[in-house]
Amino acid sequence: MSAKINAVKGMNDLLPGAVGRWQELEALAREVFALYGYREVRTPVVEPAALYSRGVGEQTDIVSKEMYVFEDKGEDRLALRPEGTAGTIRAFIEHGAFVDGPQKWFYMGPMFRRERPQKGRYRQFHQIGVEAFGIAEPALDAEQIAMVEDWLSRLGVKTTLKLNSVGDPACRPAYLADLTAWLTERAGQLCADCRERTAKNPLRVLDCKVPTCQPVLQSAPRLLDRLCDPCRVHFDAVRAGLDALGVAYLVEPRLVRGLDYYVRTAYEFTSDALGAQSAVAGGGRYDGLVETLGGPPTPGIGFALGAERLALILEALGRPIPVRRPLVFLVAADEAGAAAVLKLSSDLRKAGVACDLDARGGKLARQFKQAERVAARFALVLGSAEVAAGEGKLKDMTTRQETPVKLAGLAAHLREAAT
Ligand code: AMP
Repeated sequence: MSAKINAVKGMNDLLPGAVGRWQELEALAREVFALYGYREVRTPVVEPAALYSRGVGEQTDIVSKEMYVFEDKGEDRLALRPEGTAGTIRAFIEHGAFVDGPQKWFYMGPMFRRERPQKGRYRQFHQIGVEAFGIAEPALDAEQIAMVEDWLSRLGVKTTLKLNSVGDPACRPAYLADLTAWLTERAGQLCADCRERTAKNPLRVLDCKVPTCQPVLQSAPRLLDRLCDPCRVHFDAVRAGLDALGVAYLVEPRLVRGLDYYVRTAYEFTSDALGAQSAVAGGGRYDGLVETLGGPPTPGIGFALGAERLALILEALGRPIPVRRPLVFLVAADEAGAAAVLKLSSDLRKAGVACDLDARGGKLARQFKQAERVAARFALVLGSAEVAAGEGKLKDMTTRQETPVKLAGLAAHLREAAT
């Protein structure tokens, strides 16, 4: 045997035994998002690297440290997408979608970040996210947050919703100047990352998870106390909207989205079931981003949820993985049976009945073993006698009970039996 080749570190296979869970959460996302008027968009996995330098920011870890970048045969600098917002906005602008008024879009698919792999953190992971364009009013924020909550609660997942306002270009600069001064005074008590971020992106310091930084940052000045009137009004309206919709939240003054074009609403859903990587979904308003990426001024708000983390929560909850199994397994007793089984399986599938057979034929015991492996609900043995009579015995694989059935009406009979 040749040496085997394994998957790239931090990039996971999703095998058929586990994929049912993903299909379930994706199907529910499609269903729920449609109820709220969101429509699916599919964009490429590879984009110009410049899209992310501009759309996510050169200073962010995602772009400066974690992005997979490559030269396309010495021509363009391309990147594997590290997140979904920039590409979605690029498509929104490129196709002039803004002329059609407000739009609500969603996406799902793989993202790539060269992070240190651990539980809940991978180098290829999947996000399910939405972007809503063209509406600046807080009712949209409340509706979108309520939608995430709706989706998660239909899955039986309990999360904590954290909410904050990160202000806007009117109120944030003065606050940032004060914060920078405050952090600089306490540089000696902060970690190296925090000291570096104090100069580059002071808001992000508030987000630091290092235990020794936490008590220091606890008393940092709060942007929430310094919001300008329009930001205050917006924040209060989002809160009132959530209250009216019965969505519980915690105001978390240190929750930030680290990029300049994020304004006002920032939110995050977390779960205790995840350990260190507790963030399930993060979202926020980015009213300046469409313009930054070359489009007309267009407000927007979106979120992204990590599908692996949601799957981990469902697993921790002990929620069973939905399995699709054949309704009937056709077993061939002899040569005439083998031909009949092949034809009958085709007829059944055309009639919408999921069925399977063991194409190897051979011993009945082995075929029945295979029927058990694929968890078929019923089995039906066909040999020359059954073919001649046009009738066989349908065996319930759980109760072992056998019922005579006419082959002609089998599809209808099975559908009846399945209900
Ligand atoms: P972000 O785009 O960083 O705000 O992330 C949004 C969501 O994607 C997070 O809340 C996580 O659930 C998920 N996520 C981010 N990075 C990773 C990763 N490396 N592996 C798995 N999930 C991730």
